[in-house]
Amino acid sequence: MNGKVWLVGAGPGDPELLTLKAVKALNQADVVMIDDLVNPAVLEHCSGARIIRVGKRGGCRSTPQEFIHRLMLRHARQGKCVVRLKGGDPCIFGRGGEEAEWLAARGVDSELVNGITAGLAGATNCGISLTLRGISRGVTLVTAHTQDDSSLNWSALAQSGTTLVVYMGVAKLADIRDGLLAGGMSDAMPVAMIENASLPQQRECRSSLGRMQLDALAFELKSPAILVIGEVAAAAAVVALAQSA
Ligand code: SAH
Repeated sequence: MNGKVWLVGAGPGDPELLTLKAVKALNQADVVMIDDLVNPAVLEHCSGARIIRVGKRGGCRSTPQEFIHRLMLRHARQGKCVVRLKGGDPCIFGRGGEEAEWLAARGVDSELVNGITAGLAGATNCGISLTLRGISRGVTLVTAHTQDDSSLNWSALAQSGTTLVVYMGVAKLADIRDGLLAGGMSDAMPVAMIENASLPQQRECRSSLGRMQLDALAFELKSPAILVIGEVAAAAAVVALAQSA
């Protein structure tokens, strides 16, 4: 009989942001396949599982995604309970849906378990209310990085009037700025760049659309980081100041 694969979000980094459901899955797992951005501290909830690091930075072979798929399948077909542990939420730029579909096509059951996605965690940790009433009527999560290197319609995003949360944007700051400016966004639009959200080494850099690339350079902003682009990025700074006063 086939086992089952749990596609679990480990949250943004702080082990206390793990869900109870994730803890339960880890506790029952025979095999845990862990991604790069997952804080290994969450593995304390495992009881005797075999831990396999499958992160792309951790040195999987040439076709990592295919390799990961096959590894999940092999263990599930041995009747094992497999946890595939991903940073943040498995379905936000996390291939959770893709993997679930791939497994289903081969007759293996899987279940998706939410995690707190880095963009939401980063903003909240910095006191930024992404949908601050009266200022922002919505939030759009986007990735600046695509497999085929196609460009997003930044102009349309600029005109959406929603707060933008950008994943994988550190190497694309100039493109993002140019696209949003071309769409009519003001160069004074507040931006918060948040590195290592929710971890003790979290850093945040407040800037503006026009200055963000220069400021990120001076700040030595590194991945993993998210960008929050919108009026709320400034409004939150005021809240934070008021709190510390
Ligand atoms: N599934 C993940 C996203 C994976 S894509 C989630 O829901 O959070 C990887 C990108 O996520 C990184 O390039 C970065 O933009 C963002 N990211 C992940 N962890 C982060 C963290 N602790 N702080 C800031 N950004 C993070």
